[in-house]
Amino acid sequence: VFNRVMDHGQFIMGREVHDFEDAFSKYCGRRYCAGVDSGTSALFIALQGMNIGPGDEVITTSLSWIATANAIAMTGATPVFCDIKDDLNINPESAERMITKKTRAILIVHYTGRIVDIDAFISISEKYGIPIVEDSAQAFGSIYREKAAGSFGYVGCFSMNPMKVLSACGEAGAIVTDDLALYQRIVALRYNGTVNKEICIQPSLNGRLDSLQAGILLERMKGVSKKIKKVRNNAYLYNQLLNKSIIPAPERKDEKISFYSYTIQVEKREELMEFLSSEGIETKVQHLILMCEQKPYLNCPKDNIQNAKRIVKKILSIPVNETITKDQIHYVSESIAKFYKKC
Ligand SMILES: *Cc1c(COP(=O)(O)O)cnc(C)c1O
Repeated sequence: VFNRVMDHGQFIMGREVHDFEDAFSKYCGRRYCAGVDSGTSALFIALQGMNIGPGDEVITTSLSWIATANAIAMTGATPVFCDIKDDLNINPESAERMITKKTRAILIVHYTGRIVDIDAFISISEKYGIPIVEDSAQAFGSIYREKAAGSFGYVGCFSMNPMKVLSACGEAGAIVTDDLALYQRIVALRYNGTVNKEICIQPSLNGRLDSLQAGILLERMKGVSKKIKKVRNNAYLYNQLLNKSIIPAPERKDEKISFYSYTIQVEKREELMEFLSSEGIETKVQHLILMCEQKPYLNCPKDNIQNAKRIVKKILSIPVNETITKDQIHYVSESIAKFYKKC
């Protein structure tokens, strides 16, 4: 890939980008894909492309990486935060409660790779005529009823940063949709709001994708199903080995999760983390602070977020990636059991 890109010298938006966009839209079962320079850009440009801005409200979850709320706020719109369910995803009843005359979109996040209760959101979307934007940054490869994450709403946004399921060797993101007019606005917004490289139709920033990253992503897409399968098997082994009271909510019928993370819900989390670390096991909390409790968002509208407040203190992600062995999964599971036996 490197030599090919060096040879043709079109470092940004070269043919690798177009080939990647073709492959990615096919994978997601969508008509159009625009490659961009990050998942944050993908969210921001998609919302901007929907003409969302000052005076508008966008409903979203309270538990996500802060990029979700930031993308809304950077358009000038106000994020409105909802409670979550035990599967860590936005609660549709909470979302419906928060709808006002100003609501312009519902930004759902398929958190940890688990598909949001999408049937409920589609019916809310139809009932109120409010489009759904999917933050699928953690859900590449997750499937529900044979449809991929990112293919349910009006527009789907992805991150391919090095932590994600499909990962570049740097920053990368993508936007998918079936709406040609939206796609065309997104393509303009991706580069300073210009059409034909000269005429500017709307102020915007630069969010283009590098040819090198696109070429790497194209190569990695070939092996990604195999990788996802391994990770899913790792998750299933944890499901068997760990105490039922701490494992993630089971997959629904017709749901296949790509397990961006395997997130358990535990008591005495900080002590457990410390103990596991002393056993040589790295764990992570994604994320420590609810978005609505971050300083810039303290005054934004929010529903009663009791469940989110309770759960955010308990979540802990344990190693599930494709390189971990069965023995290591047994070791992690036994170490967790050992900790709770001690206390
Ligand atoms: C990673 C992530 C993003 C942002 O993606 P970047 O490529 O890092 O900008 C947005 N939303 C969620 C849920 C994420 O996990």
